[in-house]
Amino acid sequence: MSVNITQYQSILSFLKEKNANLVAVSKTKPVEDILELYHLGQRDFGENYVQELVEKFEKLPEDIQWHFIGHLQTNKVKFIAPFVHLIHSVDSEKLLIEIDKQAKKNGRIIQCLLQVHIAKEETKFGFDALEARVFLNKVLTKEIAFANIRITGLMGMASFTDEEVIVSQEFQEIEALYNEFKESLRFTNLSIGMSSDYQLAVIYGGNMVRIGSLLFGARNYNK
Ligand SMILES: *Cc1c(COP(=O)(O)O)cnc(C)c1O
Repeated sequence: MSVNITQYQSILSFLKEKNANLVAVSKTKPVEDILELYHLGQRDFGENYVQELVEKFEKLPEDIQWHFIGHLQTNKVKFIAPFVHLIHSVDSEKLLIEIDKQAKKNGRIIQCLLQVHIAKEETKFGFDALEARVFLNKVLTKEIAFANIRITGLMGMASFTDEEVIVSQEFQEIEALYNEFKESLRFTNLSIGMSSDYQLAVIYGGNMVRIGSLLFGARNYNK
């Protein structure tokens, strides 16, 4: 087993000081590893594949709060709608419409974050900053409204690079957008920061970080 308990505790104390929350990203890792952190008090876990999330949900304690952080296909929303705690990766209005529909069927309000594309890389999903701004303005004026969804903030992934200047600029961009709507839309979650850049993320207002490999070790395959 490869869970790094010392690392977990030092990350937790760092985040506590900054009032930020930890989502332990357990994708590709076995339920035993999740339970190890669970027994230390960790309740928020993140997954990015629907089938894997559903299987883990069925095997693990009910009081775990499951975060969906991967690209979500509309036809798979129904599988996680009954139990998902927060969907970080909402990248289209079409997806929101489906989440709203499935939330209603389950008699729930599902919390969502808009994924904002801040990295310069081509492959990342998400709204760009301008699209997100246009969209959020429509939410503000109630031109767009969903009865069974609550948009609680933004999620972003910075470029995969060691150059802090680039990562900082990207975090700054999403922080500005977050602050623009924070009061009017009562935002509570800015989900930025992963193993390589979480310390930088909290400097730019990140209050929810998604950390996988530092806690669970490197993943065998690249998901
Ligand atoms: C895998 C993943 C993470 C965690 O990445 P690490 O570098 O292992 O900390 C965070 N966010 C998303 C969206 C991911 O897919």
